[in-house]
Amino acid sequence: MKKLSLPMQILIALIGGIIAGLICFFAGVPEFTTNYLKPFGTIFVNLLKFIVVPVVLLSMIDGILSMDDMKKVGSVGWKTVAYFMATTAAAGVIGLVIANLFDAAGLFPTLALEAGQEWTKPTSANFMDTLVGMFPSNMWEAFHTSNMLQVIVIAVMLGGSIMAAGEKGKVARDVVASFNEVINQLMSFIISLSPIGVFTMMAWVVATQGAAILGSLAIVVGCAYLAYFVHSVIVYSFSAKVFCGISPLAFFKGAAAAMMFAFTSTSSAATLPVSKECAEELGSTKEIAAFVLPLGATIHMDGTAIYQCVATVFLASCAGVDLGIGQMVTIIVTATLASIGTAGVSGAGMIMLAMVLTAMGIDVNMIMIIYGVDRLFDMGRTCLNVTGDIAGAVCVTKWEEKKAAKTK
Ligand code: ASP
Repeated sequence: MKKLSLPMQILIALIGGIIAGLICFFAGVPEFTTNYLKPFGTIFVNLLKFIVVPVVLLSMIDGILSMDDMKKVGSVGWKTVAYFMATTAAAGVIGLVIANLFDAAGLFPTLALEAGQEWTKPTSANFMDTLVGMFPSNMWEAFHTSNMLQVIVIAVMLGGSIMAAGEKGKVARDVVASFNEVINQLMSFIISLSPIGVFTMMAWVVATQGAAILGSLAIVVGCAYLAYFVHSVIVYSFSAKVFCGISPLAFFKGAAAAMMFAFTSTSSAATLPVSKECAEELGSTKEIAAFVLPLGATIHMDGTAIYQCVATVFLASCAGVDLGIGQMVTIIVTATLASIGTAGVSGAGMIMLAMVLTAMGIDVNMIMIIYGVDRLFDMGRTCLNVTGDIAGAVCVTKWEEKKAAKTK
């Protein structure tokens, strides 16, 4: 018998989970899912929590080391990173604004808790406290408590120091690259267990919350797609028109093949060959596309940043918590950093959502609520991630051309 593809398995798990959940809900035995299905979901979430510190640490250091090569590519490198950072921050703001509008309109629910169940409430840190708290006084404690902002600071400092150590830091550099690969393999394995996680969590969420939760999930997915759409229209149309002199329609038409491939594969890395072709067709040079696109597939994830903002606001609402301005700023900063640390593979953004939630002090177990529909989020966010990389390649090419024309 032919093995079903992972997307197919996930779809079947999603539908199966909803049906099982509805049956238990209407039969009045939601505790069956709590007692016998949710534990498997918990195992899955525990695996996610366990992997998040090594993933963030290693992929961040590795990403920083890959910037070392950027010195060689000089102005192309810095323009690329500046473009990436600016669009991702814009994505975070757009995601947050739209999610808050949905929340203010009362479209996000506050969930009823089962007897004895409790979500830990977010700690209401203000921005200054968050800033001070970012700097670790003990490295192991940061790992031990999964303090994500501290882990990022550690990664940035270690990455910078390995770079500064030059030739003598070579062993450390190789060790990071090797462990990063190992951890990525482990992450793929955990992601391959998704169908079990999707089935058990979907069944539990539907059985305990009732059919109404399906509507809420549809709304939060719709909210993310609205933000994806607004971001493409504003940021990429603007980039195409203003920086590259290409009409937005022509840009999206040129990028369509890669967008569709990304939508179905949910992997920016796997889409690379197609995005290369699209970028070149839209006017990017071969050399710049070869530099910008792989870097983009590693550190530039606008769709992922949007998803993380929307999901965080949604889950905060589910826990019955109002987020203040300081916390909003923290969400944007952590979602931007998390999207940089997200690998360009299927489902990676959800693992990094654990990081944003931890940074916000929101119970990571709440991921269970939206995990069942993560594939739907992932399709859209990957599509956006890839479009952003193509826009970056075309813009940087134009800027370099303009610079060359000026110096002539
Ligand atoms: N699947 C996304 C990508 O490859 C990453 C994510 O899960 O957010 O771009």
